[in-house]
Amino acid sequence: MSLLSNRTARPTLATWLFLGAMGATVAAVLTCTLVIDSFVRVEARQQATRYLQTNADALRDALDRGMAQHYEEVSVIAQLDQVARSGDMPAVRRTLEQVRASFPQFTWIGLTDAQGVVVASVDGLLQGANVAARPWFTGAQRAGFVGDVHSAVLLEKLLPRQSEPWRFVDIATPVHNNQGEPSGVLGVHLSWTWAAKIKLELVDQVIEQHHAEALVLGTDGTVLLGSPALQGKKLPTQGGLLVVESKTRGSGRYPGLGWNVVLRQPEAVAMAQFRTLQQRTLLAAGVLCLLLAPLLWLLARRLAAPMRELTARLDTGSTTPSEHSPLYREAELLGEALTRYAQRQAEDAARLRELNATLEARVTQRTAALAGSEQRLRTITNNLPVLIAYIDNNQRYGFCNGTYEAWFGLDPAGIVGRTVEETLGAEVYAPRKPLLERALAGERMEFEMISAPLGVKRHTHTTYLPDVADDGTVHGIYALVIDVTAMKAAEEQLMLMARTDTLTGLPNRLCFNERLNDALARSRRSGKPLALLFLDVDKFKLINDTLGHGAGDEVLRLFGQRLLSCVRETDTVARLAGDEFVVILEELHTPAEPQFIARKIIAAINRSFELQEGLWDASTSIGIAFHAEGNAQPAALLAAADRALYEAKAGGRNTFRLAAM
Ligand code: GH3
Ligand code: MG
Repeated sequence: MSLLSNRTARPTLATWLFLGAMGATVAAVLTCTLVIDSFVRVEARQQATRYLQTNADALRDALDRGMAQHYEEVSVIAQLDQVARSGDMPAVRRTLEQVRASFPQFTWIGLTDAQGVVVASVDGLLQGANVAARPWFTGAQRAGFVGDVHSAVLLEKLLPRQSEPWRFVDIATPVHNNQGEPSGVLGVHLSWTWAAKIKLELVDQVIEQHHAEALVLGTDGTVLLGSPALQGKKLPTQGGLLVVESKTRGSGRYPGLGWNVVLRQPEAVAMAQFRTLQQRTLLAAGVLCLLLAPLLWLLARRLAAPMRELTARLDTGSTTPSEHSPLYREAELLGEALTRYAQRQAEDAARLRELNATLEARVTQRTAALAGSEQRLRTITNNLPVLIAYIDNNQRYGFCNGTYEAWFGLDPAGIVGRTVEETLGAEVYAPRKPLLERALAGERMEFEMISAPLGVKRHTHTTYLPDVADDGTVHGIYALVIDVTAMKAAEEQLMLMARTDTLTGLPNRLCFNERLNDALARSRRSGKPLALLFLDVDKFKLINDTLGHGAGDEVLRLFGQRLLSCVRETDTVARLAGDEFVVILEELHTPAEPQFIARKIIAAINRSFELQEGLWDASTSIGIAFHAEGNAQPAALLAAADRALYEAKAGGRNTFRLAAM
């Protein structure tokens, strides 16, 4: 139920939907508004610029055309006969004054001679003055001249005063006499108020309502025409103004003076209409958002209704659908799936509770069962006649069974935690140490050892089984030690019995074969000869037949003892079968030695045998095989002795023969 916790602090789905839709709407409206705003701003600026540019171009054209016209007018005046070719200067002066009456903007018109002395001028101004140094005179020596706007130099004091200082544009052209030779210069001072008038009539009156301002700048950026405050100064750069320029280019023969017509308008004025439109657009966007807000809220609540329904169903745990069907199919399906899921959850929870309730009892039961099985295991291991132990990586006992007590009188609990060396003693531990280390390195070890831990001698068979974890590391070893002392003794007894003749107690054929092999090997090593004596009781059957088998057995026993008494302890006397005996004589030097022993044996056997049944005289025949050197095989040696025995028998018995080797 954590899904539904803290529900009052978190916004509902309807709130999220509303906020999302509202955010998207506001973003869309704002984006549109900004796009429109940016477009209109550019358009408004372009429109204002176009308006200013049109007026600037118009003023520029008017100035160019006006100047070109005046330039031509001066040229025409200079060619008038009454000016150029009249020698009568008062008449020339009158002509010039008539011309000025027609062109009042020509403030001063004067004719100079070739040396620059004014010979005729309107109102006689500067007449007789030398103007040779004036730029217009020097400039017009060869061709027409136009000089830039300048203040009145000589005429300021001669002319009537006006509201602003006199300024002129000088236009001059050479004058030629009848012979076509230069005879002087015609100079005209065009009043600059002419330009101011054009500006006023053509532009100022039009742009005034837009708070715009028109200026004419010289080539060096000085204001030639503009408000009195700016006139004669460089135009300062000013922010917040929309500015356009239009450079004069000249017209016809008039080359132009590089004037720059500048029109400027405060940007705030130029963009006033745009600002109004902008405010209206923003207002409209705001109103639109406000109008949409309730609609979006209603829509969000409608869309979230199925989710509310589902939540309510889950919350109450109701599995029956509400009478109000969800708005759309998916929500209905989801609702059913959730209901089924909630049912399963409830069933699982019930099962879990049930399991929890019985868990404790089961744990107790299992623990008891485990403890019981461990006790059983311990009882079994304690009663097995073997040592069972767990030895850890540090060669310390982790577990010992009760046999430790039975064998050594040690308390198993007291051994746990002690090392093997401490427990068994250094002497017993020493031979086991390398084997323990190999087992702790992961090798299964199995070995037998005779030792006397704690003073008790035992023959033991030990198995070390490494305790290897899944990742290959060895945690310790399981040690299993079986006492095989008794088993080994029985085994030895059996071995002995298997090699002993039961009747005489002498070694039997099996033992004889082993001893002959060993004796031959010794003889080869030491280089000392050996002899094999093959003996057979003469006429033995007769004893059996006369005195019975028991007497025969007794003769055989006594026969064996007499043989033993004739040889050294290191020699071997064995019974092969029936009445056949063999003797191995070692460490000999010459063939005479076995023959001496054979004689000794024959003499010993010839002594009467004292039997229960009475005295019995017996004899034996002996075949001798003498081995001095070489690689004689046991069977070959025995065969040679047997052949010699046969010869002794054939030679009348109670004698010996030496086999030829
Ligand atoms: P020879 O001089 O040629 O040897 O004559 P022999 O009678 O001794 O003949 P042989 O050596 O062939 O006979 C051996 C006899 O010994 C045959 C067998 O009945 C008897 N015999 C074999 N084993 C035993 C035994 O364990 N006890 C007794 N009492 N008699 C045995
Ligand atoms: Mg015999």
